[in-house]
Amino acid sequence: MALYLGLPKRRTRADSVAGSLPPAPVDRNTVPAAGLVDRYGRRATDLRVSLIDKCNLRCTYCMPAEGLPWLPKQAVMSAEEVLRIVRLGVDILGVREVRLTGGEPLVRADLLEIIEIIRTAFPTLPISMTTNAVGLEEKAEGLKSAGLTRINVSLDSLHEETFRALTRRPFLGQVLAGVEAAAAAGLGPIKINAVLMRGINDVESPGLLAWALERGFELRFIEQMPLDADHGWTRREMITASEIRELLSMEYVLTPDPRARDGAPAERFEVKARLPGNGPVLGSVGIIASVTEPFCRDCRRTRITAEGRVMSCLFSREDVDLLGPLRDGASDELLGRLWQEAMWVKPRAHGMDHAGLDTPQFVQPDRNMSAIGG
Ligand code: SAM
Ligand code: SF4
Repeated sequence: MALYLGLPKRRTRADSVAGSLPPAPVDRNTVPAAGLVDRYGRRATDLRVSLIDKCNLRCTYCMPAEGLPWLPKQAVMSAEEVLRIVRLGVDILGVREVRLTGGEPLVRADLLEIIEIIRTAFPTLPISMTTNAVGLEEKAEGLKSAGLTRINVSLDSLHEETFRALTRRPFLGQVLAGVEAAAAAGLGPIKINAVLMRGINDVESPGLLAWALERGFELRFIEQMPLDADHGWTRREMITASEIRELLSMEYVLTPDPRARDGAPAERFEVKARLPGNGPVLGSVGIIASVTEPFCRDCRRTRITAEGRVMSCLFSREDVDLLGPLRDGASDELLGRLWQEAMWVKPRAHGMDHAGLDTPQFVQPDRNMSAIGG
């Protein structure tokens, strides 16, 4: 078993474009004894665990039409291995909330078991899940009973044709039924994630907001990031946060939400109808401006891929294997150390916020979003 115990001495590409940096310590003794802390003082408490790389949709901004070479089953963490990682995070490393993701977590046959064993181990831990909601209608009650706290559903269009163009699958009806079932099962507050694509669903943004507000869901628009397997993303084509605010402002008045952001990726706005004298507050909307208004400075996330590798950042070009050592019998102490070291070298910023974006300054990671766990 090859175990790495020294601190990596490299600087990452994102660091190199991040301007002047404080010197990065290279002595492993400087890794704090507790918690998932990085060289810039950020502490990761929000764990995203990918349960599977497979998915039943083919969203154009994420997956290629033909899918990807899926991981062999034995390469993916088992339910017990997921629990061991979550235990390590919560009991030893300061993780305070867990989000299950993928690929598509609903595709995983033992999803209920995974949730149940985490819930039994941690009765009060917030456990959420990000899902495309295909098949959720039948599973929502079971997920709630197993101990899931709440869900985020990804939904980019309310029109069958547009939905099909974006996901390459005709499942809009299933997704809508799934969201309603989740609400009925008590898996709220429900957040809806939408990615806007120029000329495809950007015009739908006020309609999506109206739909979410009527149902009491919190809609969050996510800027399209260069994390598609097809490498088709361009800075010119993506819809920016500023454009999203403009699109919504045609029908609504947005005011910055007075509640503290508290490390959340979404900047939240209170929404009022655009009426003479303004109407009452209808709800709120979030904008996750990862590309044009990045929030790396206050990032609290740590990610584990389906094959048990730590990714300190969505845009990391390096990851650290936990599952191999875990299967070889590594102690919690050693696994914790590996995880801490992986987080210690988290880049200061992803590098996309520097002008150019499609210039050589920013290099798209090899993994696409479904292979990381968004
Ligand atoms: N399959 C589940 C789903 O779609 O909700 C969970 C995994 S998916 C990778 C998690 C989130 O990543 C989704 O909300 C999706 O819209 C978002 N996503 C995927 N590719 C993206 C990209 N290139 N830019 C921005 N968001 C992306
Ligand atoms: Fe699947 Fe989610 Fe990627 Fe869409 S965004 S292809 S639903 S993993």
